[in-house]
Amino acid sequence: MSELIEKQIERLQKMIDDGIDIVFFGGAGVSTESGIPDFRSSTGIFTNNLSAETIISHDYFYYNPKEFYRFYKDKMMYTKAEPNICHKKLAELEKAGKHITIITQNIDGLHQKAGSKNVIELHGSIYKNHCIACGKNFDANFVKNSDGVPTCPRCGSIIKPDVVLYGEPLSEETVNKAVAALEKADLLIVGGTSLKVYPAASFIHVFRGDNKVYINMENEQLSDDFIFIKSKLGDVFSQIKVNK
Ligand code: NAD
Ligand code: ZN
Repeated sequence: MSELIEKQIERLQKMIDDGIDIVFFGGAGVSTESGIPDFRSSTGIFTNNLSAETIISHDYFYYNPKEFYRFYKDKMMYTKAEPNICHKKLAELEKAGKHITIITQNIDGLHQKAGSKNVIELHGSIYKNHCIACGKNFDANFVKNSDGVPTCPRCGSIIKPDVVLYGEPLSEETVNKAVAALEKADLLIVGGTSLKVYPAASFIHVFRGDNKVYINMENEQLSDDFIFIKSKLGDVFSQIKVNK
């Protein structure tokens, strides 16, 4: 690890120790070290499958549910994945009494699996699903283990994941919660996101504090007011100490 990155991690540690109200804003890069591929890094799904954005869209779900579910079950439903050091450290900080809000674009539920309670899921979760006709709820295993397109045993209609598909709006309630958390925070840590998915990416501009850190192993600096740590999240968070 370079001397620059070590110094930057020391600064981040001090900001976390001094921070009263912290927001961690994350994306798919938070879960790559749990074995879930992201979309846009050099090994991401988009590199190998250019039509991913088309397949996991609102229109495709209704016009070709068979193909939607073939892709979704295989590439998005990592129900056996385990939290990595980044998920775990964030959960430990919360447990130790830090006021920390996680705003995630991920749908994998790994922050909760690590023990975090204060999690805002901008794009929903693979763990919640409902019948589009009668509203009955289903867990992830029901969907994942179904043969082809999962249908409701009660009414026979198609089951839809409570995930925001391309072409669908975010839940207003979720957006309001994210904005409220960002407005009152004094430290913003952005990690593992390419900030290419809107409107999610625009929310970071709601933050008005001085302390902004961006951690990404590939991307360039966002703007001068962010400390840009060009590193894997695991390498950064394995060094962060949970001080009371
Ligand atoms: P993205 O794929 O567009 O970008 C991920 C970014 O994280 C890249 O810039 C990459 O360089 C960086 N990165 C990857 N691994 C990293 C690591 N270990 N340490 C540091 N940086 C790392 O992801 P996005 O911005 O979140 O947008 C993708 C959209 O797709 C999101 O809306 C998300 O909901 C969805 N998605 C979710 C999952 C998931 O739930 N785990 C996985 C893939 C995609
Ligand atoms: Zn039903």
